[in-house]
This record gives sequence, C-alpha cells and structure tokens, in this order.
Amino acid sequence: MGRRRKRRKIIVKKVRRLPTIFQCPRCGKTSVSVVINKKEQHVFVKCAACGLAHDFEYNRHLEPVDYYSMFIDWFEEEAGGLG
Ligand SMILES: [Zn+2]
Repeated sequence: MGRRRKRRKIIVKKVRRLPTIFQCPRCGKTSVSVVINKKEQHVFVKCAACGLAHDFEYNRHLEPVDYYSMFIDWFEEEAGGLG
C-alpha cells in the first residue's frame, strides 16, 4: 500500500562567493559580516551578535577578509587601552 517513492532533487547551487562571515574578536561568535557597498565606496563590518561595528573606505584591491583583518586591528587598538 502506498508506494512511497523518494524523489530526490539534487540541486546544485553554484556558490562562487568568497566567505564574508568571520569570527568576532569581541564575542567570539562567527557573526561578523562584511558588506561592501561599491556604489558608495564604503565597507561596513558588523557583528550581528554583539553589535561591534566599524566602517572602512572601499578599496577595490581588497577582499572581505582584508576588511576583516582591518576590523581586528581596529578592535585591538580600540580595546587595547581598556585592558
Ligand atoms: Zn561580536
């Protein structure tokens, strides 16, 4: 009774994007996103978990991971004095 046929649709998504989600230096969660706005020549790096955020100037030679490392540097400088 009731032949069940499992139909499997295999959907191959071609994702060619570079990763844009990174680990947050403050809360440690992987919720830091890098949003590049080429139109406004502006990059916004933000942690969705703790709200840590910073803006950078857009540079077409840089990749999201580069902004992320700038974000880390910025954070370390900011947090450095707080001990
Ligand atoms: Zn965070």
